[in-house]
Amino acid sequence: MTKKYQILIVLALILFTAFIGTSLVSYFAAHDSLAQEIEESTLPLTGDNIYSEIQRDLLRPIFISSLMAHDTFLRDWALDGEQDSTPVTRYLKEIQQRYDTETSFFVSDRTRLYYHPKGAIKEVNKHDPQDAWYFNFKHSVEPYEINIDRDTADPSRLTVFINYKVYDYSGNFIGATGVGLSTSMVKQLIDDYQLRFNREIYFVNRFGTVTMHSDAYTGAEQIRNSPNLGLYATRILTSPSTAFNFERDGETVYVNSRLVPEFNWYLIVEQTNSPTNEKIFHTLLLNLAGAAVITLVVLSLAWVTISRFQRRLETLAHTDKLTGLANRQMLDRMLPQQIARARRNQEPLSCVIADLDGFKQVNDTYGHPTGDLLIRSIARLFTSITRTSDLICRWGGDEFLFILPNSDQAQARRFAEKLRRAVESHQLQLKDQLIGVSLSLGVAELGQQDTQEELIQRADHALLTAKNDGRNRVSEQTEEVGCSV
Ligand code: GH3
Ligand code: MG
Repeated sequence: MTKKYQILIVLALILFTAFIGTSLVSYFAAHDSLAQEIEESTLPLTGDNIYSEIQRDLLRPIFISSLMAHDTFLRDWALDGEQDSTPVTRYLKEIQQRYDTETSFFVSDRTRLYYHPKGAIKEVNKHDPQDAWYFNFKHSVEPYEINIDRDTADPSRLTVFINYKVYDYSGNFIGATGVGLSTSMVKQLIDDYQLRFNREIYFVNRFGTVTMHSDAYTGAEQIRNSPNLGLYATRILTSPSTAFNFERDGETVYVNSRLVPEFNWYLIVEQTNSPTNEKIFHTLLLNLAGAAVITLVVLSLAWVTISRFQRRLETLAHTDKLTGLANRQMLDRMLPQQIARARRNQEPLSCVIADLDGFKQVNDTYGHPTGDLLIRSIARLFTSITRTSDLICRWGGDEFLFILPNSDQAQARRFAEKLRRAVESHQLQLKDQLIGVSLSLGVAELGQQDTQEELIQRADHALLTAKNDGRNRVSEQTEEVGCSV
C-alpha cells in the first residue's frame, strides 16, 4: 500500500472516530438528560395531575356525605327508632338521583340494618368479611373515610365509597352514611391521560395486584409476576413514591409510582419510547450522515492535495532545478522505455552528449551567477530547437544528453551540428557585454546488442574525441568500428 493510501486511511479513521465519538457522546448525554427529565419531571407530573383530579372529583361526594351525616332528618329518624323504612329509602333515593351518585346508604349502629335507596337490604354482620369495613370504620378515629370496595347491593361492581360517621345530638355514634361512586370516573381519568400522553396508567393495591387499568392494559394482573417490572415490585410497594427505568423488548420503560392514600392504592405511570427519544435518535443518524459526508469531502480534498503535492514532488525529483530540463533520475526512468520501444518498432535511436567548451573560464571571468544565466539560456535554446519527442537531460554541470527516438546516426549527427551552430552563434547579453561559448558533441546510435550504458559510453567517448580534436565540433562513434570519426 502506498504512503498516500496509508495517510488517507489514518485520516479517515481519525475523522470517523472523532465524529462518531462526539455524536455518540452528545446522543447519550441527550438520552440521559431526557431519561432524567422523564423520571424526575414528566411522569411525576402526570401522577400529580391524576392525583389532584381524583382528589377534586372526590371533594363533592365528601361534601354530600358530610351533609347527610349532619342531616337532622336522618338523625331524628334513626333516633326515633327507625319505625318505617319508607322515608329513609326515599331520602337515600333522592340523594342518589339528585347528586347522580352510584349509590347512597345508611347503616344504623343500633339495628345493624343497611339502608339503601331500595330499602333495608341486609343486616351488617361482624363475622361477614364483606361487612368488615363498617366495623373497622366505626372504630377508627377519622370522621370519614374513602373506601374502594364491592358494592353490598351489587358485589360485581367496584365502588368508591365515602363513609361518614353519624352522631346523635350528644355525640354518640349512631351509624354510618354516605354515597358510593362508580369507579368509572377514575377509569375515565386513566383513559384520558393514556390517550393524551401515550402513557400506561394503572393502579395496584398494597399487595401488588392491579386493581384498575384502562382497556388497553396488557400487563400482568400482579406486578410481582411481570417479567421485568416484578424486580421493582417491592420497591414500588414499600415507598410512597419512586421512579426508575428498565429495559423491555429493547426499549427503555420509564416508571413512576405514588401512593394514593385515599384509596390505599399505588398509581403507576409508565412511559415507553418517548417521541423525543426518537427525535434524539434521528438527530444521531443525521449527525452520523453529516459526519460521513464531511469525512468524504475532507478525504477527497486530502486526496487531491496529496496527489498534487506528490506530482510536484515527482516533478521536482525528476527536474533539474537550474534549467527545468530532465535530470539523471528522469533519464534513468525514460531511457529504458525509449530503448525498448525502438527495439519493438525496429526504429533507430541515437544519443548525443554535449559539453560546453571552456565553461570554467566563463565562471572565472564573469562569476558563477553569470555562468548560471548562460547555462539557463543555452538550455532554453536547446529546448527551442529540439523536437518534443526528443528527451533533453542535464547530464552534468555544463554537460547535456539528448535521446533522439527514430533518428539514425546520420540524422543525429545533423541534429548535433545544428546544436553546435546554434550555441556558436548564441550570446548572452549582460549589461554592455556579450558572452558566448562553443559546444563539443559526441554522437552514437543504439546498436543491436547495446545496453543503455554502452550507448552512453560510446557517445561520451565521441565527445572526448571532439574535445581532444580541438572543441567546437561534432564527433561520432559507430558500433562496428568502435572508433570515432
Ligand atoms: P572543457 O572545454 O574541457 O569542457 O572545459 P570546461 O572549463 O568546460 O571544463 P569542464 O567541462 O570539465 O568543467 C565544467 C565546469 O562548469 C566546472 C564548473 O565550474 C562549471 N559548472 C558546473 N556546473 C555549473 C553550474 O551549475 N553553474 C555554473 N555557473 N557553473 C557550473
Ligand atoms: Mg565543459
